Amino acid sequence: MIIYGSMMYFKRNVVNSSSECEHCGQYRTMRSYQGRKFGHIYFIPLIPMGAHSQVLNECSGCKMGVHLPVAELEPRLEQLRGQFKSWIMAIQEGHREITLDGATEPVNVGLLLFGIIKDLYCLKEIESIDSICSILKSQNMDYEEHLVRAQWCEIKGDLRGAGAHYWEASKLNPDDTFPIFRMGKVEMLLGNSAKAVEKFEECLKLHPADLYSLIEIATIYEKKQDHPKIIETYDRLYDLNPELIPQSGMQKIYKKACKKTRTQGKYLDRF
Ligand SMILES: [Zn+2]
Repeated sequence: MIIYGSMMYFKRNVVNSSSECEHCGQYRTMRSYQGRKFGHIYFIPLIPMGAHSQVLNECSGCKMGVHLPVAELEPRLEQLRGQFKSWIMAIQEGHREITLDGATEPVNVGLLLFGIIKDLYCLKEIESIDSICSILKSQNMDYEEHLVRAQWCEIKGDLRGAGAHYWEASKLNPDDTFPIFRMGKVEMLLGNSAKAVEKFEECLKLHPADLYSLIEIATIYEKKQDHPKIIETYDRLYDLNPELIPQSGMQKIYKKACKKTRTQGKYLDRF
């Protein structure tokens, strides 16, 4: 048998990070790099297939990642740099919140930085968060600094460190669900599903309409095949958002859970 196929070759700008994979759901090492796909025979690259690409967050487990043609990379980088620079300038002027173009509500700068530093790091735009943190510190933005440090810990594979920073952020801003939600995610990724549920329930106490926390709870019970809890959580999801009732994938799980537990779920006759 001749071994042939296609693979990425001539990799450069390789950056390793850690995060929850969007595809397999596992917290794994992710690789970002530039390279080009070649058809190979016995792993010798012979036929170029497509242009050079920037690969973002290729999962070490399922091998899925985002492929961006290098030609499209520069405009995206320009945009990222521009955003980052303007946010840092706003922070230096003492602004804790920024209203983004087209948005009506302002967003906390800690959350904005939280969302951007992973891309900046994976694309080799930043190598550390030291200068970001000292700027935040100079403005006494402790909550924001903890969010940035938590995200950095996650990127570096330190989930417990991330959890500790979310905890500190949450103490400074107890009514904010974001750090509590992230603590739930961290516990989930560490395999502590009971603690994770506790955190997501805390979010729901603060914001009863928090659909995302409820979805995370449902996902935990689905993984555990805890049928009574699946029914209970799905009932809460349907109560909160009746638009989910026609969703056939969810109906299947709900029906199975009802069958396994021999219960007449309150939504069974609404499908
Ligand atoms: Zn994966």
